[in-house]
Amino acid sequence: MNMLESYSISDSQSGESVEADDTFFSLEGQFKTLASLLKGRIIRPGHSQYDDFRAVVPGNYDRRPTAVIRVANAADIAASLRFARDNGLEVAVRSGGHSGHSSTDTGLVIDLRDLNRLEIDKKTRTAWAGTGLTAGEVTRAVEKHGLIVGFGDTASVGLGGITTGGGIGYLVRKHGLSIDSVLAAEVVTADGNILLVDEKQHPDLFWALRGGGGNFGVVTKWKFRLHALPAFTGGPLVLPATPEVVSRFTALAELAPEELSAIASVMPAPPAPFIPEEFHGKLVFFCMMAFAGPAEAARDALAPFRAIATPLADLVAPGHYSDLYLPEDPEQKPAFSVCSRLMDRLDEGDAGKIINRVAGSSAPMRLGEIRVLGGAMGRVPSSETAFAHRSSRVMVSFIAVYGDPGEQAVHDRWAADGIAELPQEMDRVYVNFLLTDPAERIHAAYPPQTLERLKLVKRRYDPENLLRLNRNVTPA
Ligand SMILES: Cc1cc2nc3c(=O)[nH]c(=O)nc-3n(C[C@H](O)[C@H](O)[C@H](O)COP(=O)(O)OP(=O)(O)OC[C@H]3O[C@@H](n4cnc5c(N)ncnc54)[C@H](O)[C@@H]3O)c2cc1C
Repeated sequence: MNMLESYSISDSQSGESVEADDTFFSLEGQFKTLASLLKGRIIRPGHSQYDDFRAVVPGNYDRRPTAVIRVANAADIAASLRFARDNGLEVAVRSGGHSGHSSTDTGLVIDLRDLNRLEIDKKTRTAWAGTGLTAGEVTRAVEKHGLIVGFGDTASVGLGGITTGGGIGYLVRKHGLSIDSVLAAEVVTADGNILLVDEKQHPDLFWALRGGGGNFGVVTKWKFRLHALPAFTGGPLVLPATPEVVSRFTALAELAPEELSAIASVMPAPPAPFIPEEFHGKLVFFCMMAFAGPAEAARDALAPFRAIATPLADLVAPGHYSDLYLPEDPEQKPAFSVCSRLMDRLDEGDAGKIINRVAGSSAPMRLGEIRVLGGAMGRVPSSETAFAHRSSRVMVSFIAVYGDPGEQAVHDRWAADGIAELPQEMDRVYVNFLLTDPAERIHAAYPPQTLERLKLVKRRYDPENLLRLNRNVTPA
């Protein structure tokens, strides 16, 4: 039996480059030379697909890169990085496009979306996954084999961004962060070297790639350990949004078996048919529950949550893990404001502040999101990966979603003020939730000794800080 399955989840658009507009005359010759070296394509302003390819997911950013390079392999990335350096161009690296860092107004976008190969080895329970793939694509492919690797709550987030930052999702308590399942990576460094990195080969780089963000090279593919998932129960449990309910839920989620992870948000109830109409638009506690194990054990683990208060809706049931991904409309490009903090506890007073803050937002959609951590994530020593805030128990995020990017300052303020109201023992944040924060908040993403170590790795692999469009770690 062939244990190695290959998939190519392709996007086979085949537009040719068209003539450059005026802004390109100065570099036209160089671009022609670059095109002759590439297996992939160069898309420049004026090309019929330019607007599609330059777009990123958050509507906050409308940037016009000098060129988007749809790379076909690691050699294309190496050539593109050299080209950028030789011509003094800024470099943005795009995987799923869920951050504002993957576009630029003055340089190149290295677009990884054609690196979409997934090789699943059922015998060794491992997979090599290209960084052009999304979380949803990998989840759906591996779960067909009763296997899983955890990413986040959104299918369209790219494997490049989520994994370099850490990856906090519905399996965080059972299997840890996404990086805790990474066994190896292929990476192109800023000087154009193509390296295979793991615990033995370039261990410093392997350490930094797991949580240090996109600072240290361009990952072309990850090797993941896959976990058995013979049975799964999940879905939304909607409870009344009161301080008692929110704090009780959080306490129970900490005590629950590790099979159970949850992402729970105080938010206006969507006008969904499963929620009684009188609650539509009113604040509710919308809890996405995930239990990675048999249905009976799931029922037992969920019983205390169902008993907190009479649920307004309860759709938690056995099914596929990928059913947890909510539908997305790629045509919709809302703007986001996010501010987040990793915390040690969340009491009833804090829960009340979260509810009041969400009630006070003018954004069409606003959330006070709570993720209870611990379990497998907390057992990995904090020096083992660049994601070092391992002992954090809870992550709280204020998220505003709105149509007009011109409102960003108002909603950024709202989110930041909400976080400032919560306990301040120490400002700790998950690097991938630094979306609209000021650049200096990178200091909250890493303990001082971790940041120092990252800076040394940066100096070794990208001393000129070519890869700086990210949550930037500057070279030591
Ligand atoms: C709607 C939404 C939901 C989210 N939910 C979750 C969640 O549940 N859990 C969670 O952990 N995070 C979540 N995030 C945060 C998300 O993980 C980050 O925004 C992440 O950076 C997005 O990755 P991307 O590849 O889609 O984005 P991109 O914008 O393409 O990339 C993000 C950053 O990563 C760098 N990068 C991308 N690919 C590579 C690569 N191959 N090699 C090196 N660097 C690279 C880029 O340069 C950029 O700095 C969410 C974000 C959004 C917008």
